[in-house]
Amino acid sequence: MTVTLFTHPDCLAHDPGPGHPERPERLRAILAALDAPDFATLDRREAPLADAAALRRAHSPAYVEAIFAAAPPPGTRVTLDPDTHMSAGSLDAARRAAGGAMAAVDAVLSGAARHAFVATRPPGHHAEPGQAMGFCLFNSVVVAALHARAAHGIARVAVIDFDVHHGNGTQAMAWDDADLFYGSTHQMPCYPGTGAAEERGAFGTVLNEPLPPGAGGATFRAAFDAVLDGMRAFGPELVLVSAGFDAHRDDPLASLMLDETDFAWAAGRLIEVSGGHLVSVLEGGYDLDALAASVAAYLRVIIAQDAEHG
Ligand SMILES: [Zn+2]
Repeated sequence: MTVTLFTHPDCLAHDPGPGHPERPERLRAILAALDAPDFATLDRREAPLADAAALRRAHSPAYVEAIFAAAPPPGTRVTLDPDTHMSAGSLDAARRAAGGAMAAVDAVLSGAARHAFVATRPPGHHAEPGQAMGFCLFNSVVVAALHARAAHGIARVAVIDFDVHHGNGTQAMAWDDADLFYGSTHQMPCYPGTGAAEERGAFGTVLNEPLPPGAGGATFRAAFDAVLDGMRAFGPELVLVSAGFDAHRDDPLASLMLDETDFAWAAGRLIEVSGGHLVSVLEGGYDLDALAASVAAYLRVIIAQDAEHG
């Protein structure tokens, strides 16, 4: 079969401002790494624009309307929260990020691809139903999960999140949804402050495995396996991944001690438990070299598994 990569040049035009860690160079570094011969078999596709109706499955109509109206003129920026800003290109970038995640779901569920990776920005897992937050405008992975249910007749979807930050927005969207599982490993204490083990959701579909600052690969792997055990008990028909690579030891925004081999291991475990298809959506990762090497290591495992199965 194939592994499909969704990205779009519009995602380089989201400019949150000078010195902001969530910068266009992140995506450039990833795409440069994926120019290596190891990745020649990737089926490369343009991420489409998500429309307002799709975004309204995860966000309030008033919020979607406000973000569509907030895009500022070229050369200016608007601030949505202390960390989250929009430039002229931000709306289309965020719509491509959500649209890429939806297209990735379509690709694996239609049989066009075995697995898919969505290399877009801005990230999404901090975006709340009615509020931009933590560099995120639209919660792409939840938009994709709810698209899978609306368009493909799937009932139960899981989102697994190994970004170093807790996905407060994804948790908020899963909280009252018995058919949406959210499982996360993340550093605690750390931004945004949510994600304690006691936070389980109204139907027990939230599972948090917080990690102490300084935790390394062995601690991460045990916690990640616990998240996957919880996911298996839930019994999803589709597994989406909030793939953030800022738990890397070189990342400037947090202090976990993972390296590329841990992300490669996570890819292998996710494939084992996902029931055949894996859709991974880029979230964080702010050291350019570590980010590029980690995405490459993660994708190498996914490509090799696809090749093995013909
Ligand atoms: Zn993060």
